Formats: sequence, C-alpha cells, structure tokens
Amino acid sequence: MTAKEKINALRNELREHNHKYYVLDNASISDYDYDIKLKALQDLEAQHPEFFDANSPTQRVGGAVTKNFETVVHGQRMYSLDNSYSKEDLQDWETRIKKLVDGDVQYTCELKYDGASISLTYENGLLTKAVTRGDGFQGDDVTSNIKTIKSVPLQLQGDYPPKFDIRGEIVLPFDGFNKMNAERIEIGEEPYRNPRNTASGSLKLQDSAEVAKRPLECLLYNLTGTNLGVKNQFESLEKARQWGFKVPEVAKLSNTIDEVLEFVAYWDIHRHNLPYETDGVVIKVNSLQQQEELGYTAKAPRWAMAYKFKAERVSTKLNTITYQVGRTGAITPVANLEPVELAGTTVKRASLHNADQIEKLDIREGDEVYVEKGGEIIPKILGVDLTKRPLDSLPTQYIDQCPVCETTLVRHDGEAQHYCPNYNGCEVQVIGRIQHFISRKAMDIDGLGGETVALLVKEGLISNYSDLYALTKTQIIPLERMAEKSADNLIQGIEQSKNIPFERVLFALGIRYVGETVAKKLARHYKSINAIADASEEDLVNVDEIGIKIAESVHAFFKSDENMSIVKRLKTFGAQLEMSAEELIGKTNILQGQSIVITGVFESVSRSELKKLIEDNGGKVSSSISSKTSFIVAGANMGPSKKDKAEKLNIQLIDEYSFLQKLE
Ligand code: AMP
Ligand code: ZN
Repeated sequence: MTAKEKINALRNELREHNHKYYVLDNASISDYDYDIKLKALQDLEAQHPEFFDANSPTQRVGGAVTKNFETVVHGQRMYSLDNSYSKEDLQDWETRIKKLVDGDVQYTCELKYDGASISLTYENGLLTKAVTRGDGFQGDDVTSNIKTIKSVPLQLQGDYPPKFDIRGEIVLPFDGFNKMNAERIEIGEEPYRNPRNTASGSLKLQDSAEVAKRPLECLLYNLTGTNLGVKNQFESLEKARQWGFKVPEVAKLSNTIDEVLEFVAYWDIHRHNLPYETDGVVIKVNSLQQQEELGYTAKAPRWAMAYKFKAERVSTKLNTITYQVGRTGAITPVANLEPVELAGTTVKRASLHNADQIEKLDIREGDEVYVEKGGEIIPKILGVDLTKRPLDSLPTQYIDQCPVCETTLVRHDGEAQHYCPNYNGCEVQVIGRIQHFISRKAMDIDGLGGETVALLVKEGLISNYSDLYALTKTQIIPLERMAEKSADNLIQGIEQSKNIPFERVLFALGIRYVGETVAKKLARHYKSINAIADASEEDLVNVDEIGIKIAESVHAFFKSDENMSIVKRLKTFGAQLEMSAEELIGKTNILQGQSIVITGVFESVSRSELKKLIEDNGGKVSSSISSKTSFIVAGANMGPSKKDKAEKLNIQLIDEYSFLQKLE
C-alpha cells in the first residue's frame, strides 16, 4: 500500500468508528485501539503534508483560533417557532392549516432540543460551513469550532444531494455539563448555570481546541435546499440519519392532533430520562408540498408549531440557609428545604449561588419557595411565594465571618462570591487543598483517600501538602483503620508521586483559577516554578490565554512567603518543579524513519528515558545492529562484539550528549 492509500484507509476506518461511537452510540472498538489508529494517521499525515485534508478525523482536536467570527448571510432564513401550550392551541392551529391546504395532513412530532441552533452546509458530501442562527437572517461562521464536535460528520456517506443545508441544535448533555461544572468548582470558578447557555457560549470560543474538549453534541432536524430527493419531513430525518447525521430516533408520525397529544404526554414524563435538555415538542406538517403551500409568517413557519412543556416546579418550605466553604475559600449559600418530590427525585437542598442572588430574590428562612429542576444536579430556586411569608420574617443577613474559622469574609470588586481569606489556616480549605493535591488528575497518590487526608489534618500530622512527604509509617499506623499494609501503600504512593511531571504538580498546588489547561500552558511557557514565581502580572498576561484574573491569582499565590516555603519544601522532597530534559525537548519527527540502537551505560539519562526520547521524536529503537541501523547511541562499556559489528557496517556511534543535542 502506498502512503496515500494507507492514509485514506485509516481515515475511512476512523470515520466509521466515529460514526458508530458518537452518532449511533455503539462503539465497536476499544478507546485504546482507536487512539492507536488515530496516532498512526497523525504520524502519516505529519510525514506527508501533501495529503492534508481539512476533513480528516485528525482535525477533530481543533487548534484553529478565530479572533473575529465572519458574518454569513443564511441561504434561507432561520425562523423561530410559534408556541402552543394546550390541546386547544393545537386544534386551532390545525383548523388554520386545513383552511390553507387540501387533503389529509400528517404530522411529524419531534422533541424540541434546548441548545444553540446551527446551520451546516455540505457540498459534495463535505462539511463546508457552519453558521450560528444570529438574528435569523445572518449569523457567525463557526466552522472550525463545529468541526471539533464528533457527532457532526465531516464527510457524508450514501446518496446525499450535491449541495444542501441542514439545521439542528448544538446541545450539551447533562453528564458532560455536570462534569465541566465539577471541574470549574474544583479550581474556584463559578459553575455554569445551564447547559443551553454553555452550549451557545462554546460556539463562540476563539480557540477551537477548547471547544474540542467540551462534550457537545449536534442533533439535526431540518433539511433545506432544492432537489433533496425527499417528499416529507419524516423521510428527510431518515435520510439524514443514513448520510451520517445524528438524528434522534424518537420522531413519530401522527395522523391526528390526538396522536400528537399522546406523543406530548409521553415525553412530558419521559424527557427526564433523556441525556440532554428538551423544552417541548415540535410538530411539523409532514408533506413538504403542503409546507410550501403554507409558507411563513413574519416570524415563523405556518407549517410548524412548538408545544412547550410546563416546567417541573413545586413549592416547598425553606427551613434554613447554611453556608459551605470550598477548597478555595469560596462561600456558597445553601437552601435546606422541606423534602419534596420533583421530576422523579426527592429534593432537599438547592444552591443559592451567592449573596446577590439571595438579595435579588429576597429569599428568607421560613419562606415558601418555588423550586425547579433542569438536568443539573442541583435544583434552582425561582422565587418566593410572598402570600405565604410569615409576618415576623426578616431579610436574610448574609454571614460576614467564615462558618469554619470565623475569619472576616472578603468580597473582591466585580466578584459575586464571598471568600474566607484564611488560606493556610481555615481547616476546610487546608483539607480541601490537600485532597485536591492527591487527586487523580493532580498527584494521583495511590493509597491515600480524601477521608484519610482529613484525619491526618485533624490529628495534626499534616497542615499542608508538603507535609505529606515527611510522613512516616510509625506516625500513620496508629490512625483509625490503618493497617500495616495500607500504611506501606500510602508511603509508597507518596513516594511515587515524585515522578509526576511538572505541569501536573503545578495544577496540584491548587492555585485559584489554575485548572489543568492553564497549568499546562504556564508550565510549558515558563518551564520551571521559579520562573513562574518570578513573573510579574504583566508577564503572565502576555502568555497565550492567560487573562488578568488568572495572572493576579498566580502572582498573589507566589507572593505569599508561606506558599513559597511550602513550594521550596516540595522541591527539597523531590517533587518535579521544573520540566524534565525530556519534556523540554518535546515530541518531534526528527528521527522519523530511523532505526536506532542503544548500548552501554549512560550518565545523564536512563536507558528507558533514551528509548522514550527516540520514540517521542519519531524514531524506532532496535535491539541489534544491522545494515538498517541509522546510528548507535553508545554509552560507556559498549561490548566489543557490538563495536566490531558497527565498525564493519560503518555505522556511526554518538554519545548521549551529542544525541540530546541533536534533538534540541
Ligand atoms: P424558539 O427559540 O423558542 O423560537 O424555538 C425555535 C427554535 O427551536 C429553533 O430555532 C430551533 O433552534 C429549536 N429547535 C429545537 N428542536 C427543534 C426541532 N426538532 N425542530 C425545529 N426546531 C427545533
Ligand atoms: Zn475560614
């Protein structure tokens, strides 16, 4: 097979797997095998830039940065929908329709997905443009962002028309939304309020690589264009599905408004089991011919109607307001409610977000409040039933002291949240920070769990994460539920964390607003903790994607003597506080196609490090010398027979230092 054939075969195969996984929700290979194939394709494409294809599966990871999104006029306007709320509304609609068209009318019922609308243009089966709805007449070109969404096919299959637009909704399923929020809360950012706004916000991010990380999905519902080869809406959904689009299967054909109402009634209940948010049903006249006859009003098609679900809300008593302190010191007020059934679960608590929110809604203890549940884990309080407010009720006094350590709270200009500033003394913060430090994405310390951390702090054995490295077995064995074996594991896990690379250590420090991505950016830019600590706010802001909020937070962290001494201690204990030689060199294709033999003993690097370096830079490590060997990295004490063979075949020997230089 030629390289071109190999590349095409891999692209087709990966496309197929993408479709199965992201569109059909039915994977047929393991993530691991998928990654291997993707890596193989990436390597081949890097070697053969002449076969570049903007629609290759490797382009899904994004990378393009858009500063200003170009405005694009829609080929056909993106209309709104008229709303209906009752059986009568729907019957009235049917009466109006029947006056305008002849013959029987069939309806396609679909769910109304709550996200951001998008219009995709395909030419000869390739995605060429993706435009937001904008004002309906024109929107923003967000093609490079949309390409990162795996359920959007970059190349179609089957009997698609040569050119058409397809419309749909970009949604953020609850699972992914909740996960994103958990990560935000982790770094002290305020959580996103709802999946819908987060989805539409994502489309306008400048860095498409960031969009690629968000678990967005694209659900399609409408074909537009001429000569589409379909006669009705239901068929067009089926066709779109065959071409490779994600079109939910729940659509149903109905012959009467009563059947439509059955669909509505069913989904009003079962929508709570869907992975994404829906806010109603969309009913469309099925025949495209009839659709054309019906046409549009100034705002919406006459042939379609939205039926809005009533939001699931209940009222219940708010017993008390309590305050939680997060790992970053952020205070979150919590409403403790009289337990109540809502959308299939029992609700006992709701977040009140911050002081402003409480003031705006004038929420007080003892109030009867309205609670609504979207797909978020935490239900929302929408407002107060003032008719039930007790006469002696007083406005809520927001706390001014930390509920844990009694330090006076602060609130920075422009921020919604109050903070406990007692960074190194507030027990909840201390425990939370160490728990973050040991977590899987940070130092990943095996054998140590969150509860043990709390216990260690409470027993006075540790008061910051650097203390972990000074723990001894004799100190921990007396702890509750700590057997000899688990103590060993704990010590070993801590020891092993000294190998965790710098960028993760930086993330582990728990600096406010420094999440995984920011930590990576900073680590790669500055390369050592000292360089970051020395950087001024202006320096920091100049780093790609580091805003003023992050810069201030990083700067403040390292300005504190206490933090600096903890960092120094970490360094003394052997944590990675700068990039290793290997990371500094990074990955390249410098050694592409070369077969390299490693032999002898080395001073500055280990054999396995060398091996990894060779592989990271595109080379192959071979165990024996042959005429195919490109060169030999030779350390001290190279065996005489190998030396002979190298000489005979006239193969170059280089020492470790020249080799490392070669890579720089
Ligand atoms: P609204 O924004 O309330 O006027 O509702 C109209 C919007 O509903 C459209 O612009 C679409 O983005 C969205 N929508 C969601 N699901 C569907 C669907 N199945 N068919 C048509 N539009 C839908
Ligand atoms: Zn405190």
